[in-house]
Amino acid sequence: MKKSAADIREDLKAHVDFLAEAGAGFVLRRPEDEAPAGTAPSSPDSSASLPPLTDRRPQTAAERRILEETEQQILGCTLCVLHKFRTRAVPGEGDRSAELMFIGEGPGRDEDAQGRPFVGRAGQLLRKIIAAMTFREDEVYITNMVKCRPPDNRVPHHEEIEACWPYLVRQIELIRPRVIVTLGKTPTDRFVPGREGMTARRGRFGEYRGIPVMPTFHPSYLVRNEGNRELKRMVWEDMQKVMVLLGRK
Ligand code: URA
Repeated sequence: MKKSAADIREDLKAHVDFLAEAGAGFVLRRPEDEAPAGTAPSSPDSSASLPPLTDRRPQTAAERRILEETEQQILGCTLCVLHKFRTRAVPGEGDRSAELMFIGEGPGRDEDAQGRPFVGRAGQLLRKIIAAMTFREDEVYITNMVKCRPPDNRVPHHEEIEACWPYLVRQIELIRPRVIVTLGKTPTDRFVPGREGMTARRGRFGEYRGIPVMPTFHPSYLVRNEGNRELKRMVWEDMQKVMVLLGRK
């Protein structure tokens, strides 16, 4: 799809805003100057018993239909207690055959009200990051570990994550992204498990069934630590590794 001049201007503005907020110094650093990305342990779900998802054949019409049906199922899901508190479930949005998938923790208040992921303050920052990565929002797929808002935005419980997990697996199997970015500890614990904190685990590719998974800080952590340029620098460093892998850099 050809972008209009206004779209390009919007993208550029978001790009520049994000880079400016992240600090100009590091922007000029080249990825080859960075330490090579290590490989973190893969998650239990990437075991040999599940087929790899590295096949880049085009998505079939049937797969697309199943994905749409999955999103519909999520909208009516009652598998865990979270459905009792929701206004709307939030299946995810974007390109259903995206190369790049972002996985957050779970919907917050704004997302619950609108039925769309990452539309609040953290979401605005995530969308700036996406633009800075030279992607349009509708070129990536954005979703969460749990599709219904946990009360008071608490961290989702283990059984809630388990109940929702098959939906996420199906989304990944059908979208077959080339790279997944996990935002914050909740998705990172699942995809790139480890005992270290996020500061140690971010920036190193793990793997889910052959798909590289890049853990990074959750944008809400950046929002909460607004003055901390180092955090933004680290996120941008992580995203540059993703861009290199996707040929965007
Ligand atoms: N935080 C998340 O993890 N997901 C959202 O969709 C919004 C905020």
